[in-house]
Amino acid sequence: MPTRSLPTCVDVLIAGAGTAGVPAAIQAARAGASVLLVEKSAMPGGTTTAARVPFPGIFHAWGKQVIAGIGWDLVERCVAECGGKLPDFSTPPAAHWMHQVGVQGPVFAALCDETMQQAGVQVLYHTMLAAVARTGQDWQVTLCTKTGLATVQARILIDCTGDANLAALAGCELIIPEHTQPATLCCLSGGYDPKALDLPAIEAAAAQAVAEGRLHPTDAGWDRTRPRLGSWLNSFGNNANHIHGIQARTSEGRSELEIEARAALLRLYRFLRTQPGLAGLRIQAVAAECGVRETATLVGRDTITAQDYVTGRLWSDPVCHAFYPIDLHTSDGGGLDCRQLQPGVVPSVPRGALLPQQVDNFIVAGRSLSSDRLANSALRVQATSMATGQAAGAMAALACSRDLAPADVPACQLRALLEQHGAIVPPAAP
Ligand SMILES: Cc1cc2nc3c(=O)[nH]c(=O)nc-3n(C[C@H](O)[C@H](O)[C@H](O)COP(=O)(O)OP(=O)(O)OC[C@H]3O[C@@H](n4cnc5c(N)ncnc54)[C@H](O)[C@@H]3O)c2cc1C
Repeated sequence: MPTRSLPTCVDVLIAGAGTAGVPAAIQAARAGASVLLVEKSAMPGGTTTAARVPFPGIFHAWGKQVIAGIGWDLVERCVAECGGKLPDFSTPPAAHWMHQVGVQGPVFAALCDETMQQAGVQVLYHTMLAAVARTGQDWQVTLCTKTGLATVQARILIDCTGDANLAALAGCELIIPEHTQPATLCCLSGGYDPKALDLPAIEAAAAQAVAEGRLHPTDAGWDRTRPRLGSWLNSFGNNANHIHGIQARTSEGRSELEIEARAALLRLYRFLRTQPGLAGLRIQAVAAECGVRETATLVGRDTITAQDYVTGRLWSDPVCHAFYPIDLHTSDGGGLDCRQLQPGVVPSVPRGALLPQQVDNFIVAGRSLSSDRLANSALRVQATSMATGQAAGAMAALACSRDLAPADVPACQLRALLEQHGAIVPPAAP
């Protein structure tokens, strides 16, 4: 007998149990709200787990911690659970990614489940969104469950889908760029010794295969002008290819992307197996889904521009910090546009970047927050997504308990609740 039944009415309904959705749900539930978290796949963690990008970052800037709270706690506990060691955060690293924290994805997912259960979050996996309607101040959300449609009433909705799917159904205005950052299918290869390979010879053969149409340059690399297989081979297939030109916000787009990503992997596999030292190549694991960097962003009450981001603009109503270089995987040509922040700069996120302009009782967290493309290339990362998720959960719980719109929750109360749950809230602009 199933022990779980779908509630008909909750304070907060969150779509997407990913990087932002899990901290959002835990925070809202710990603050006393009844929370339903709806997830299309089988596990929590989103890009961190399902897309095999298990290196959340960046929580520390210039020698001190700038993002903490529920997401950081999950990361830190996961490292401890696995007997790992955190990087030394006391000084800026030689390369920014060295301050990302490696976690074991499956353990991280299980910890998210355990922590959500303890907080009282009701989680519904294998469920998608069908429709959203307004009923007075509340929302009625129609869900597509495995056994048919079901409706749930909620006071506040939080979109943590990464694709602003819930926001679109609720009538929020979005920016859907014509050209988006490429996606990546992460896998784990084996059956060879990278040190024993003749990489220049393999890359010369790859150039020939590209010329003959058997391989695409970005099947194992980020450079569209020529195949560079070193990163894929040395990392055993981790975060080392690009799939270009597919808008993956919809089921149709996602399907096209998954099929093209697997086709790219098959082209690569067939090519590599003919190369010296690679006859025993195995694809031992592949991400449950292709990792998507960009699909759509909210048009919010505040929009974070690249200028705001790189100058560390202070906002009158900040909810969290962000820290990462501008990191735009270019949609045409040569790989990555990476621009480091100037020493001492720590950007922040205003509450208005999570709130739609026209729609009340609705919050967006994670990579769809309101920002221009260049700023979003930095804001989309995992530590910031976790922090915006926690801020969204706190705002939603306070809005419910005080019968206010999220925009009207007093900043001092939001700050106090977030700090009580370990988060770091930046100083407000004078
Ligand atoms: C290849 C790649 C490499 C990256 N490298 C790094 C890195 O090194 N460090 C770093 O910090 N960040 C990195 N990022 C960025 C970062 O991982 C993501 O931007 C971030 O995890 C996004 O968080 P999110 O919560 O917005 O979305 P996600 O974590 O993707 O979560 C969205 C969740 O919503 C669910 N969902 C989607 N649509 C629906 C729907 N309609 N109904 C119900 N559920 C739905 C999804 O299944 C998923 O669980 C990388 C991203 C990619 C793709």
